[in-house]
Parts: sequence; C-alpha cells; structure tokens
Amino acid sequence: MFDTQRSCMVKEQIISRGIHEKRIIDAFMKIERHFFVPEALFSQAYGDFPLPIGNGQTISQPYMVAIMTKLLDVKDEDSVLEIGTGSGYQTAILCLLAKKVYSIEREKELSYQASLNLRKTDIRNFILLVGDGTLGWNKYAPYDKIIVTAGAPCVPESLLEQLKVNGRIVIPVGDRHSQELLILDKLDNNELRENKTCPCRFVPLVGKEGWED
Ligand code: SAM
Repeated sequence: MFDTQRSCMVKEQIISRGIHEKRIIDAFMKIERHFFVPEALFSQAYGDFPLPIGNGQTISQPYMVAIMTKLLDVKDEDSVLEIGTGSGYQTAILCLLAKKVYSIEREKELSYQASLNLRKTDIRNFILLVGDGTLGWNKYAPYDKIIVTAGAPCVPESLLEQLKVNGRIVIPVGDRHSQELLILDKLDNNELRENKTCPCRFVPLVGKEGWED
C-alpha cells in the first residue's frame, strides 16, 4: 500500500536534498510510514511535513528523520538510545540500521500506540520505556549513539554520562520554539566535540534535565 507515494517521498524529499546512503534509503523505502500515523491521516503520511499523532505531539517530517539518522552515523553493531519514541517511526528506521534500539517516551498513550505501530512491521530489535528520557536509561548504558527527537534547553548531563567514548549524540538545542541540531562526539579523552548543523523546530523535551512541564 502507498508504494508509489513512499518512493516519491524518498526521491523528492530525501535523495534530492542530498541524502544518498544506500542503507538509509533502503530503510525509508522499507518502512511503511502510514502505519505510524492515525488512520484518518494515512493519505498524508508521505507528505513533506510533520503530522499530529495525539497528546499534542507530532511524527517528524520525513526529511528531518532522515537527516538526523544520517548525522547519527549508525553502524550495524550499534546500541542506540532514542529519547522521544513518538509514533515509533524513527525507532523503526533506526532498528533497520542498528543492533538494538532503546526508546523512551514520556507519554504513556503514545508509547503504547508506538508499540502497536511497530508490531505491524517485522522489526523486533527494540525495547520501549515510558519515562523521563532526559535521565537516559542506565540499565543498558553505555550507548554507541543517542538521538533526542524533542527540543532541549541544553544537553542533558545524564545522556552525556551514558554515551560511550567515541559515541555520538544528535540533539536539537535552543529555546522552546526553535532550535539548532547539534552533533556531540565524545572523544578518547572524554572531552566533547560539538558541531552545529541546521536550524530546526521540535516539540519541547520536557523533564528533569529538560524544560519544565
Ligand atoms: N521521532 C518521533 C517519530 O518518529 O514519531 C517523533 C518524536 S516527537 C517530535 C517528540 C516526542 O518526544 C514526543 O512524543 C514527546 O512526548 C516526547 N518527549 C518529550 N519530552 C520527553 C522526555 N523527557 N522523555 C521522553 N520523551 C519525551
């Protein structure tokens, strides 16, 4: 279903904007994005915009999922921590590229819906948790990669602690309405190297080491 729309989305929104990595393209071709939006929005699932998924939250624009995935530089053997499961779409893409994905969502209903969405695929290498992702998930730390899909006021210290040496975090940082997408690499000497990439606009990261509710 929606094969033509999915193929257009990949060509027009992802490849034409400079994302050419075969593994990433294959993942976007494989995952049926309409599984991750409410049924009433199926016909808009492949559009060039975010969509509402309930609880005032959104599934990110396809290109934003793609650029964040590219910047994260996920390898086959990576264990990835994702903060902000949302619909589970980004989780599904990451699962095709990594060994295991640990994903935290603070809204219980969304996490439950994401688990139903993901069950429609054949992907099983993930674990979902309901909780405050700004504190990370100590149980499975350290992680090779950490991705934050909500806008933070600053980089949560707990996430930095749970990142492996030579690991990478991709996170939008800024004010509540607009952010910059940052890449932070943890170097051999435990120092951090920061690179600013592009402006972006995410729903706020709400939690102990994020924004107040
Ligand atoms: N990547 C998701 C997708 O593909 O559907 C979109 C994520 S949406 C832009 C951001 C999500 O982060 C929301 O579902 C929101 O509830 C969640 N969120 C915000 N603060 C959080 C926190 N402290 N811990 C976990 N999730 C959080």
